[in-house]
Amino acid sequence: MKKIYILSDMEGISGIRRSEQVQSSSPEYEEGRKLMMADINAAIEGAFDAGADEVVACDTHGGGGQVRIGEMDSRAMYETPGGGKLLPALDETFSGVVLLGHHARAGTLNGFLDHTMSSAHWFRYTLNGQEMGEIGIEAAYAGHFGVPVIAVSGDRALADEAIELFGRVECAVVKWALGRNRARCLPHGKGLAVIKETVKKAVEHADSFEPFKPEAPAVMQLTLYRSDMADELAKRPDVVRIDARTVQKNVASLADAWIW
Ligand SMILES: [Zn+2]
Repeated sequence: MKKIYILSDMEGISGIRRSEQVQSSSPEYEEGRKLMMADINAAIEGAFDAGADEVVACDTHGGGGQVRIGEMDSRAMYETPGGGKLLPALDETFSGVVLLGHHARAGTLNGFLDHTMSSAHWFRYTLNGQEMGEIGIEAAYAGHFGVPVIAVSGDRALADEAIELFGRVECAVVKWALGRNRARCLPHGKGLAVIKETVKKAVEHADSFEPFKPEAPAVMQLTLYRSDMADELAKRPDVVRIDARTVQKNVASLADAWIW
């Protein structure tokens, strides 16, 4: 029984090359959603081609809900994050997680729309002293259930970050950032083919990847852009002020390593 979880963000989707395409207030946003649906369907197809029995797709951009469910491959199930869970259906019965359309962590050179959780607030995040971005946080969440991240898609910088963190992971590189706000993309059909083939290869060998499991209980630290942002977080239970812009929290479980 091979169950695969696909978590999609938007910044790393193939063909998305301008920040307006991921902003819900922009007229270009609907094109971004359309491109995202194509990538999700390519990943679902790759998973089933490789013998997956069940696929759950979830989208995380802006809290989720960008998927046009009528356009999604009907073989997969769909859910959004919620209830304090990043990947709600994920449990020990899954064979692998695909982080689709993701972006590099905050502060990455030539990472398209690089950020970690909040472009406006989060400057630097560490878990047990190791700097990481969203793919690290999500992989640790999956690691809590013993499930490995088997494939990622996004720009070159995202792939480099994934290899540095996870060691062995299949990477679909679909774009190259030119600074933070622009990207050079593969043609759409080529991007979809790369995603499908990468996911297929990863799912075929899903049992050969290692889950990402930082030590737990874990210590997380967050440096905000301004001290007033840390003022707010420092008022919360179990949050300790380290300096003007940095707060720290100990978490018992890797599934909570993103909750302040
Ligand atoms: Zn996003």
